[in-house]
Amino acid sequence: MKETEEVFTIAVTVTDKHCPAGERAGSDYMREGKIPVLSCEGACIRGEIARLAAYMVAKEEPFRRGCHGELLSVPGSALARWMTTAEKVILIDGCFLHCQGRVLENLIGREKLARFDALSHYKKYTEHFDIDSVPEAGRKEAARLVADAVLAEIRQTYSPACGCKAADGCA
Ligand code: SF4
Repeated sequence: MKETEEVFTIAVTVTDKHCPAGERAGSDYMREGKIPVLSCEGACIRGEIARLAAYMVAKEEPFRRGCHGELLSVPGSALARWMTTAEKVILIDGCFLHCQGRVLENLIGREKLARFDALSHYKKYTEHFDIDSVPEAGRKEAARLVADAVLAEIRQTYSPACGCKAADGCA
């Protein structure tokens, strides 16, 4: 994809509401130094595979699932504060359009963002849009492939500030 410095702006209506479960999770993850894992949340099969892969990565230590909805639209929430102050953020976009990555690189900074293109790892289903156009087993298999590639690269290139290896099951 062509890299450009050109940007555009969107407006978000402010809310004074908070999600109680999200506040608890965000506070816990911040205190425990967990690393947020986000996906593009795209509606097609590529977005679904990225979403499944993000859940798989987030089951490992020291990662946890981030919420792009709160990150973008509830900036004062505990989840948003956790994601914006984390030392690293893992992002799995569904494809080469990098819809979420092009937002997050401006929101949290390129240096903190580890971006992945899920499709580049499993390289199929490009003729489909609907999630259920690919059987569940195929979706899970592709997501596992992506999650394993993401974990392998992160564990090679990143060590948490606590000094342990992410592969060691950092608490
Ligand atoms: S990155 Fe690809 S899959 Fe994800 S929202 Fe954008 S177009 Fe859809």
